[in-house]
Amino acid sequence: MNQLNFKTVVVTGASSGIGKAIALAFGKQGANVVVNYRNSEKEAFEVAELINKNGGNAIAIKADVSKEDEVLHLFNQAIKKYNSIDVLVCNAGIQKDNSFSEMSLEEWQKVFDVNLTGYFLCARQAIKEFSRNQTTGNKKAIGNIIFVSSVHDIIPWAGHVNYAASKGGVLMLMKSLALEVAPQKIRVNAISPGAIKTNINKEVWQDEEQAKKLLKLIPYQRIGEPEDVSEVALWLASDASDYVTGTTIYVDGGMTLYPGFVDNG
Ligand code: NAD
Repeated sequence: MNQLNFKTVVVTGASSGIGKAIALAFGKQGANVVVNYRNSEKEAFEVAELINKNGGNAIAIKADVSKEDEVLHLFNQAIKKYNSIDVLVCNAGIQKDNSFSEMSLEEWQKVFDVNLTGYFLCARQAIKEFSRNQTTGNKKAIGNIIFVSSVHDIIPWAGHVNYAASKGGVLMLMKSLALEVAPQKIRVNAISPGAIKTNINKEVWQDEEQAKKLLKLIPYQRIGEPEDVSEVALWLASDASDYVTGTTIYVDGGMTLYPGFVDNG
């Protein structure tokens, strides 16, 4: 058991970006980390190897989180290796951007399949596993779920309606599930990042002009790093936040503060 009082964590979409940073952060705390990936086998094995070298214990497991049988496989393999699961971080997410009138059903559906159904499938499996865990001292949580959502669970986003709607769905998935499982001593929270430097938005932060435009939306005047999110995930998974459930933490440099009103609007 590490100082944060969890043993095993499953992180989905952990071969890159925010998921990778979260997997590495938990690994540094000595946790068992299940590094889920869909296609990027090489990168996922590198993440697992880094964790194994730095005091943690990790395994990389391939699974498309939008597919029920693959999610079952992910959790079965994780349990086979580590016996139980204490923390689930649902992080795997995609964008398929288009203007609304041009958006295909496939673009709409795929985003929901991964960003919302994927979170449902993984969370449902985790809840089943958590119920096998024992409470220690009748106080702390027996399980913990963290949904990586987005500021677009409350900020509308033209040209990205499928993505924003899926993240809005995550908000109510998180709250309703938190209410349902709180009596079982299972906590459910979300982290909603603003703009974080990862693959998902590299066209924006790698381009000087676009990055300048983006900074206008960030009162704190810097684009976030994946570690800004992983630090919050560690806290949310720890007993230090034991009384926190059904809450979203916005990790966004103030993006949700209506930055347009900084000078009288
Ligand atoms: P990323 O593209 O680096 O990470 C997404 C990961 O999900 C990738 O590793 C990808 O392979 C994986 N993935 C996609 N579909 C999958 C599937 N079906 N099954 C399993 N894995 C799958 O981008 P990121 O920014 O690190 O995104 C992580 C999460 O953070 C996403 O949910 C995203 O919506 C959210 N987010 C990111 C930002 C940002 O600015 N980067 C802002 C808000 C929210």
